[in-house]
Amino acid sequence: MLPDRSLLSALSLEGQTLGLYIHVPFCRKACHYCDFFFTPRASLMEAYTEALLREIHLYRFLLEKVPIETVFFGGGTPSWLPSSLWDKIFHALHSLPTYHPTEITIEANPEDISAASIRLWRNWGVTRISIGIQSFQPALLRILGRSHSPDTALQAINLLANSDLPSWNADVIFAIPGQTLDSLQQDLKILTDKGAPHLSLYGLTIEERTVLYKKQKLGRFHPIDEDTYAEMYLAAHTFLENEGYTWYEISNWAREGHECQHNWRYWLRKAYLGLGPAAHSYIPEVRWHNPPSLRHYLQKLLDENVLPASSITPLTAEETQEELWLTRFRTRAGIPTSLLDDSESGHALSQVWLQHGWVREVSGQYVLSSKGALLSDSLILQAIQTTSC
Ligand code: SF4
Repeated sequence: MLPDRSLLSALSLEGQTLGLYIHVPFCRKACHYCDFFFTPRASLMEAYTEALLREIHLYRFLLEKVPIETVFFGGGTPSWLPSSLWDKIFHALHSLPTYHPTEITIEANPEDISAASIRLWRNWGVTRISIGIQSFQPALLRILGRSHSPDTALQAINLLANSDLPSWNADVIFAIPGQTLDSLQQDLKILTDKGAPHLSLYGLTIEERTVLYKKQKLGRFHPIDEDTYAEMYLAAHTFLENEGYTWYEISNWAREGHECQHNWRYWLRKAYLGLGPAAHSYIPEVRWHNPPSLRHYLQKLLDENVLPASSITPLTAEETQEELWLTRFRTRAGIPTSLLDDSESGHALSQVWLQHGWVREVSGQYVLSSKGALLSDSLILQAIQTTSC
């Protein structure tokens, strides 16, 4: 079923802005921990780009109405696209009268960073590169199945640090078996010494349909224990704060003025449109998404000339409230205290959280502490169960 164009057109976008997420579903190979949607078939990049341009065209009725404030190319490995396809995509975006974004991010792998690629993206107005470093330790990169070496990562970081990019981010993974507190800190130190404006730190989790999951089932991979996980997260948190970074979401720290505006849109539940296979869209208060299939995406757009999206799901009041917990509560914006304290059971819960130091009260909001951040999944579950009673 397709999204109802008249329903979308009727949504009130008055006074709103839009974030544009573009999923680029190509990777050279599967990293051992990753369950994102991608294909290694680079031969389909051209067709994908044609389909993307068609999708932009079919969404013009929406895109021409709302100022586009942020753009985020995620993947997959967007940086793998050749320059000729970037030119086509940016030409199409620039043809929209509402296209005046203040932040354009491209996710990149170290092997794709060169002076020429940075120049190409800068010429198209890209303001931010988010690079998947994960670690500088060769043994840990091998466990993760990354295709770059520490040297390639360092060269890429040097290029970013010496470029005229307004901002950049490096992704780092912790809780990798064999990783020590010292080696994690060394990795972070390399990045902070290079002046990384933003860092995303993710704990390794084992998802189904990944190489690590299969290895774990065969007893050939043993995840790190919970205590070590917590110790690493808290040590990294302290290290980054001492280096002048501000924590602003469970996995994200930034120097002043470098928080990712596009991601804030997700967490504050502002409107965004997702293009490309597997991309999700949200306009208050409805959601829809494109199925995670490149074949479906190409067929719908190129053969049938229709949007590839699923049907629109209006959110109930309960779902909207749940989403607040799942998004905003994980950030330093926190959750209004009234969401808990207006009910007896909610108030009892907030008092327990405060006593344990899992949240702080800041200007009428409950905000996670670093200890609380480690427990966020279970705190969110408790809150949803309590407030939906
Ligand atoms: S981690 Fe990134 S580069 Fe690796 S397979 Fe997943 S999307 Fe591709």
